[in-house]
Amino acid sequence: MKNLWRAVFALVSVTIVGSLWSVGVILPPDPESIAGVAPEAVGAALRSDGAVPLAAGETDVLFIIACTLRRDRLEPYGHDRPTSPFLDRLSASGVRFDNHYAQAPWTRPSVGSIITGRWPRTLQLDNPGRKGALSLVLGDEHATLAEVFAAQGYRTFSATGNPNIKEVFGFQQGVEQFVEPAGEWRADGIESDDEELVDATLDFARTLRPDERLFARVVLTGVHLPRQITWRDRGLFTGSQKKLVDPYDTALRRLDAQIARLVTGLSERNLLVVVVADHGEGLKLPTHHGAGHGNYLYASAIHIPFLLHHPSLPAGHVVSGLSMNIDVHPTLLSLLQIRSEQPTDGADLSVAVRGAVETGHPRVFSETFFMKSKKSAVLDEAHLLIRDNREETDTLYARSDAGAHTPLPSAEVRSQLGAVLTAWETERAASVTRAAQEIELSDETRQQLEAMGYME
Ligand SMILES: [Zn+2]
Repeated sequence: MKNLWRAVFALVSVTIVGSLWSVGVILPPDPESIAGVAPEAVGAALRSDGAVPLAAGETDVLFIIACTLRRDRLEPYGHDRPTSPFLDRLSASGVRFDNHYAQAPWTRPSVGSIITGRWPRTLQLDNPGRKGALSLVLGDEHATLAEVFAAQGYRTFSATGNPNIKEVFGFQQGVEQFVEPAGEWRADGIESDDEELVDATLDFARTLRPDERLFARVVLTGVHLPRQITWRDRGLFTGSQKKLVDPYDTALRRLDAQIARLVTGLSERNLLVVVVADHGEGLKLPTHHGAGHGNYLYASAIHIPFLLHHPSLPAGHVVSGLSMNIDVHPTLLSLLQIRSEQPTDGADLSVAVRGAVETGHPRVFSETFFMKSKKSAVLDEAHLLIRDNREETDTLYARSDAGAHTPLPSAEVRSQLGAVLTAWETERAASVTRAAQEIELSDETRQQLEAMGYME
C-alpha cells in the first residue's frame, strides 16, 4: 500500500512540474533570444537591399506607436539590460533618431501631433483653460496619416490598446478597420493585450490582395500601467527598483517580442517600419521625475525613441540633429513621395533619414496641461528650459544632465531661451481659432480612462 501511495505521489509531482515547465513558470526566458521568433525570420525582416523601391503604391507602412516607451531603457539607446533585443537589431539595420522629442507627455495630444504633424495646441487636444482635457476630440478638419494613405489607395488599419485614442475621440479618421478591444478594459485593471492587437493586425494584412497596399497604425500599451507581464517573464530583471523599474523593464522585454512578431509577420511585404513613442515614463528615476507621465517635461517623459527600417535605407544610420514628433508625418510622406495639400507644423527630415545631410531644428518644444499641470519646455543643442506657468518659474538645465539634477545658474541663457519660449507660447495660443470639440464621456469610457490612471 505504501508503495502505491509513493507511486501516486511521484506521478502527481511529475505532472505538476511538467505543466509548470510547459507554461514556462520554472525556466525564465533566454535573455539574449527574441521570444517566439526564429533568427532567420528576423534576418529576413530586417534585410538591406537598395533595389527595393520606397514609394507610395509600392511600399507598405507599419506605423508602431509604443505608448510610454522610455528611451533610456532601450538597448539601441545604450541601456545595458537586454530589454529590447529586437529593437536593437532593427536600429542596427535601420535609422535611429538620437535627439527626438515628444510635443506632449501624455497620449491624446501626443498621438494627435504624431499622426497629423500639428502642434497639440493647434489640435486642441490638451486644454490650457481648464483642469482636464479628457473629453476633447480630434477635429475632422485635421488630416491624419491614415487619411492621406487612404487617399493614395492604401487599405488602412488601426489597433489601439489605449482608450485615450478611441474612435469616439476622433482617432478613427481615415481608418478602414479600427480595433479597440473595449470589452477588455475594466475599471479595476486593463485586460487589453498587445498580443491581440498584433494578431488583429496580421489578420487584416492576410485579407489583402497581392496588389493592395497596407497602412497599419498599431498603438501598443504593454509598458503602460498596469504593465503587461507574463508569469514566464517574472524574475527576468531584478535588483533595480523593485516596484517600478524591474516590472517596467520586464514588460518592455515582452513589448519588444510583440513588435518582433508583428514586423516578422509582415516580412514578405515591401515594408517601411516606423517605431515611435508618444511619451516616456518617470519611474522615479530620478525621484523628482515622478512615477508616471503627464505632469513633467523632463527627458524621461519627452526625449523619446524614433526608429525606421526599410531595406533601401542606410543600415545603422544615426540622425543626431534635434527632431520632433510633428516631423514624423511630413518626413514619412516625403520618403514615400506623397504630396499633401494639408498644412503641417513639422519639418521634412527625409534628407537626414537617407543619410545625405544632417538637418534638424535649432530648438524643439513640448507642453502639458495634464491634470493640474501648466508647463512648457524648449530645448536647444545644449540646454533644456522648463517653464512652470503655475509657479511662474523658468528652470534651466544642461541637456547632457538627463536627470535634470542641477539647475544651471546662467541668467543670460535662461532669459534668452525664456523669450523664445514666450514667443512660441504666444504663437500657439494664436493658432487656436475655434472652440475645442468635446464629447460627453460615457460611463464605459470613463471607467476605461480610470483604469489606466487618467481620471482624477
Ligand atoms: Zn501614451
